[in-house]
Amino acid sequence: MSAATTRSRIPDRLCAEAVDLARAAAEEAAAPGVVGEHVGVVSDGDRVVTHFFECKELGYRGWRWAATVARASRAKTVTLDEVVLLPGPDAVLAPEWVPWSERLRPGDMGPGDLLPTDAEDLRLEPGFTGEDALPPNSALSHEMAELVEAEDAEVTEEPPARLPSAPARGSIPAVAEELGMRRARVLSRYGLHAAADRWEEAYGSKTPMAQAAPASCVSCGFLTPIGGSLGQAFGVCANEFSPADGRVVSLAYGCGGHSEAAVMPKPPRPAPPVIDETRVDPFPLRPSADSGSVPATTDEESAELGHS
Ligand code: SF4
Repeated sequence: MSAATTRSRIPDRLCAEAVDLARAAAEEAAAPGVVGEHVGVVSDGDRVVTHFFECKELGYRGWRWAATVARASRAKTVTLDEVVLLPGPDAVLAPEWVPWSERLRPGDMGPGDLLPTDAEDLRLEPGFTGEDALPPNSALSHEMAELVEAEDAEVTEEPPARLPSAPARGSIPAVAEELGMRRARVLSRYGLHAAADRWEEAYGSKTPMAQAAPASCVSCGFLTPIGGSLGQAFGVCANEFSPADGRVVSLAYGCGGHSEAAVMPKPPRPAPPVIDETRVDPFPLRPSADSGSVPATTDEESAELGHS
């Protein structure tokens, strides 16, 4: 027995000595030639012992053939219990299986992919679908109907049959629609917080870009406001030169493209020309006879011209 590993419990002596029985069983279960050295023995209980043999199969590095043997109380004959292939401490194993819904990462979805949303998705909660609207015989809805009828008569000249089938003004469905709640499900409080945390992390005040920015988005002309409660802390950047163009940014975010933070420098203006009035530039009326070019003027001639 080589490099035998034992637990605190001492293996039964007769079972521990039954290495040949265990090897024969392992070789019978495995393909020929893949059962290697005996690498350990452990006690699994009273008179129950498992022998481990190295697995020499190429695809199973670190795995071990485990042959469990046992004997009855007061019996001297050891018998085979079972043979299995088990991973050892250094075995190469496949990563733990993860359900697809937990494996999915932002950006994994492609064109045509469908992503079912769990009915119990914590990010969503029921919206207003009209199912819990007031019953028609409710005093409130009756009063409201009259009020709406009177208002509609004043405001619109369209015949009622041509009006779109939108909820009546002032009714609960109309208010729900105005608030953007008239959908089967809407963002829950948890969903709102999760989105705000994500956006804050990506385009928030703690990013290096915001830390180095001359001013924050809240005062930038490129910031487009968004509705809903998230609009109190976020907007959409509409500066094509900003790294956040088209992204939801925190009002505390900022970048060097801030509309007011840096003033465009004015182009330099050339200095006005300087006229030297102490010197006379000669302009001969005729070119010199030999070269056809304007003759050079000596200093004396310049002086004479200047005095004349
Ligand atoms: S340009 Fe810069 S400062 Fe202005 S909204 Fe976009 S990210 Fe914010």
